[in-house]
Amino acid sequence: MSLPQISQPHTNVVLPTGRKIKIRPFIGAEEKALLMAKQSNVQEDKITAAIDVLSSCSGIDASELCMTDFEFLFMKEYEISVSQKIDAKLRCKNTECEELMQVAIPLDKIEVPEIDTSDKTIEVGKDDTGKQVRLFLKIPTVGDSIKFTGDKDGDVKLIFESLKGIYADEDECEIESYEEFSKWMMSQTNVYRECASFINSVPRISFERTWKCPSCEHENNTVIKGFESFFS
Ligand SMILES: [Zn+2]
Repeated sequence: MSLPQISQPHTNVVLPTGRKIKIRPFIGAEEKALLMAKQSNVQEDKITAAIDVLSSCSGIDASELCMTDFEFLFMKEYEISVSQKIDAKLRCKNTECEELMQVAIPLDKIEVPEIDTSDKTIEVGKDDTGKQVRLFLKIPTVGDSIKFTGDKDGDVKLIFESLKGIYADEDECEIESYEEFSKWMMSQTNVYRECASFINSVPRISFERTWKCPSCEHENNTVIKGFESFFS
């Protein structure tokens, strides 16, 4: 007989933002793509590979997810495809030691943060006709977040991508281009700072452990945060 086709089981998943999807386990080609990405020192390569694989396994466009949903989905995929534990390295904080300890973290011990999915409102101030000017931002997507890595204006570009609109009272303001928006935002007080703080504060998965270094006996408290720390 020819080689048999094995049917892939599907698992229902509810993402932290409440979205319901179905996923199937990684297949060999995807396992290989992830292994190769894991060896890369470039952070975006790892995320890009994970976006491709997670999109195939879930049938949704994973680049459109926010970082919290993306990290959670990766964890679930890992759980149904590889293991219920993920290997990570903890480094001793004693600067004369810096021993690396390999640990297997049970996935159910990784903390998944709650996420507020509502748009962020930033009060800009009153315009010269007395109208209250407000700027609205949505949570950045993973795809947008990695698009501008290494660009010195990457944070402003990500703010522009995440912009829902600028209003003077109920009137929506027209924005011609990124350049126009950037020039406008940078001439206001506090607006850039508040926008940057919002786009950088998307909650990440994390794991905390107190451990005694086997080499120097230093008592360590280590927090691992974000996809890149678990996938390294
Ligand atoms: Zn140590």
